[in-house]
Amino acid sequence: MITKEKIHSILKGYDKKKIKIASICSHTSLQLFHGARQEGVKTIGICLEKYKKTYDSFPYGKPHEYIIVDSYSDIPAKELVEENAIVIPHGSFVEYVGKKLENLAVPMFGNRMSLMWEGDRNKLFEWMKDSGLQIPRLFTPETIDRPCIVKLPGAKGGKGYTIVSSPAEFKRKVREEKFIIQEYISGVRVYPHYFYSPISKGGYEVNGGSLELMSIDRRLETNIDESYRATLAGVKVEPSFTVIGNESVILRESLVREIMEMGANVVKSSYRLFNGLPGPFCVEMICTEDMKFYAFEISARIVAGTNLYPLGSPYTCYSYKEPMSTGRRIAREIKRAVKLNKLESVIY
Ligand code: AMP
Repeated sequence: MITKEKIHSILKGYDKKKIKIASICSHTSLQLFHGARQEGVKTIGICLEKYKKTYDSFPYGKPHEYIIVDSYSDIPAKELVEENAIVIPHGSFVEYVGKKLENLAVPMFGNRMSLMWEGDRNKLFEWMKDSGLQIPRLFTPETIDRPCIVKLPGAKGGKGYTIVSSPAEFKRKVREEKFIIQEYISGVRVYPHYFYSPISKGGYEVNGGSLELMSIDRRLETNIDESYRATLAGVKVEPSFTVIGNESVILRESLVREIMEMGANVVKSSYRLFNGLPGPFCVEMICTEDMKFYAFEISARIVAGTNLYPLGSPYTCYSYKEPMSTGRRIAREIKRAVKLNKLESVIY
């Protein structure tokens, strides 16, 4: 893993007046470029030639410049550093770059360590437990005694997940060798999008910095969502969990207090385990009928659900006079860090 010192020494060579924001043209990049444009920060889209036309068709969302690549797994590090670029790791970025991300010699917004913790299921559980989050019970194939969800490693987007209720059903349905088996929690899914700034004040105070609730979504997953339609039509559906989009969520205001506390605990734990969590993150959870939240994942980066709110959300309007997306918030944080000479606090 490339050291923080190495990244910060690269950063030292940057012309701070010419910093650009770069990301792969996918996932949340329109929002990131749009937000950076609103903050007057120049942007670079790392793009396959065949996708450029699509990005060019959104004049306020496209990047100012492109670096055309043959494959998203080959990030042009040298070129990006020459351009004073700070990379924003979104979901597709993490997915496409894979293991190479550990040694990518380009300054990255946030704490690179947090992506390592989110990407390793054992570490992720340790983080969630240390944060005091309630998590669904885990089972082995032999101990399954209730409806459980079987998750496959790296199956981002819930593809290939199945529901089983007994050891026999597990044996019949699951062919893979690597999996985790988790109690199936019934309730409503809630994915709050947070932003933690170690260099700001004014939000929810945590570790001397400020935690903000940017927005909330839940994912649209085929075919579990709306499966009641098929069921009523007399079609028997085997539930699947493939993410196809997102829809917005607003919570009962009394639940927001708990949401803030959970986010704060995740940040505090990140300081105990790996030196902090600057930038956007999301805790994926389910709220049960007795109003208990069960968390099943933390995303230590911008999540796709924030794309619902390029012009701000029903939460950001209480913190900002202008439309504030998570993408714009990132650009503002970078600008502020430059101004305060604290870029090192938000970059690794
Ligand atoms: P994940 O890959 O962990 O984000 O899970 C993908 C999807 O599976 C989630 O968005 C939920 O719809 C569903 N899911 C995950 N864990 C559970 C659980 N323990 N109980 C019920 N549904 C779950």
